[in-house]
Amino acid sequence: MDTSAAGAEAGADAGSDAGSDGGSALVVGAGVGGLATAIGLRRAGWTVTVLERRAAPERYGTAFGIHPTAQSALDRLGLGAALRERAVPYRDARIRRPDGRVLAALPLERIERKAGRPELLVSRPHLIDALPAELDRLGGTDIAYGCPYDPGAPGGADLLVGADGINSAVRAARFGAASAPRELAEAAWIGIAGFETGVYGETWGRGRFFGMTPVEPGRTNWYATVPGATTARELRAAFADWHDPIPRVLADTDPQTWIRYPMRHLHPALPSFTRTAGHGPVALVGDAAHAMTLNLGQGACTALLDAEALARAVAAHGPGGLPAALRAYDGERRRSAQRVALGSRTLHRFMTARRPALRDALVGLLPS
Ligand SMILES: Cc1cc2nc3c(=O)[nH]c(=O)nc-3n(C[C@H](O)[C@H](O)[C@H](O)COP(=O)(O)OP(=O)(O)OC[C@H]3O[C@@H](n4cnc5c(N)ncnc54)[C@H](O)[C@@H]3O)c2cc1C
Repeated sequence: MDTSAAGAEAGADAGSDAGSDGGSALVVGAGVGGLATAIGLRRAGWTVTVLERRAAPERYGTAFGIHPTAQSALDRLGLGAALRERAVPYRDARIRRPDGRVLAALPLERIERKAGRPELLVSRPHLIDALPAELDRLGGTDIAYGCPYDPGAPGGADLLVGADGINSAVRAARFGAASAPRELAEAAWIGIAGFETGVYGETWGRGRFFGMTPVEPGRTNWYATVPGATTARELRAAFADWHDPIPRVLADTDPQTWIRYPMRHLHPALPSFTRTAGHGPVALVGDAAHAMTLNLGQGACTALLDAEALARAVAAHGPGGLPAALRAYDGERRRSAQRVALGSRTLHRFMTARRPALRDALVGLLPS
C-alpha cells in the first residue's frame, strides 16, 4: 500500500475485473463507507486513492447487522460471498421486560418473508478485513494510512468523497458547520461475550436497555445503554437484577474489551449530500452524511447503500457527467437515509422511556 499519496491523484493499475475508462476519485476515510465506495468506483473503472488518518486499519468493534437491502448492495459490489462466509442469520429475537417476560417479537420474520433472506450479523473486524482485500484483488487503489485529509492541499481528483465519519473534515470544509454531531445524554456500551447465550433480542427497562445478538459460533454480541453509567462496575450494577443471561454476560466478559460508544447523530439533517460548486464535485457517504444512533442497527447498512448508489450513479453518467451523477445519488439516498436516522432516534426515546408502563402496553399489542 502506498502511504505517500496524501491528497494526490490515484495510481492507475486497472484490476482484473475493473475497467480503466473512468475518472479519478479521492476518498477520505477507510471505514465501511469509504472502502465500499472505493470498491464500487474501482469496479466502474475509476482510479481511487483512499486517505485514512489512522496509522493502520482499525480492527476493533463488535458486530454489524446487515439488512437484506444492504446484502444486495454488497452482492452488487462483489462482496456477497465474503459476507456470507462468516455472517450468521438473526432470527428468533424477542423484546422482553427486565423480569424476562416476553412483550413481542422483533420483526425479523417479517423482514425475512418480505426479502426472501434473513437479516445477517457479521463481526466488524471481518467486514473491515474483507473490504481492503477486495480492493487489493481489484488493484488500482492506494490506501494511504496515517494521512489525514488536508482541505488546503491541492486536489487533482475528479471527485472527492467524504467518508470520514461523524466528525467529517470534508463536510466541515465543503458543506459548512451548520450540521454537527449532537450527543445524547446516554452512551452505549458494546461488547462480545465468549459464549452463546441462545437468548436474543432486546430487554427494555426504565431509561435503559440491553440487547443480545448472535455474531459467530461460540460468541454473543451485546449492547447496552444506562444513563450516567461511566464505569464497568456501574454498568454491571444497573443490570444486576435483570433476567438471565444479562448479568452473566456482563460478569463473564472482560471490561477491558468493552467499548463505550457515544450516542450521537448529525443535526440538523443536511440539505444535500453533494456539492458541485466551489472546489469541484464532492459527495458525502455514511456517517459523514447522516450519522445516527445505533438503535436500529443501520449505521453500516446505510453506509453500504450510499457507497453502492454513489458508485452506480457515477458509473452510469461517466466522468463527464458528475453533476448529474451526484444529483441522482442525492435523490436516491438522502431522504431515505435521513428517515432511517430519524427512526433510530425516535426508537431510542421509546426504548429508554422513563415511564415504561405505557410503552410496554403498546409493545405488548405486537405479535410475540
Ligand atoms: C473503530 C470503529 C469501531 C466501530 N465499531 C462499531 C461496532 O462495533 N458496531 C457498530 O454498529 N458500529 C461501529 N462503528 C460505527 C460504524 O462503523 C459506522 O457507524 C458505520 O459503519 C458507518 O461507517 P463510515 O465508514 O461512514 O464511518 P466510520 O466507520 O466512522 O469510518 C470513518 C473513517 O474515516 C476516518 N477519518 C476520520 N477523519 C478523517 C480525516 N480527517 N482524514 C482521513 N480519515 C479520517 C476514520 O479514522 C475512520 O476510519 C465503529 C466505527 C469505528 C471507527
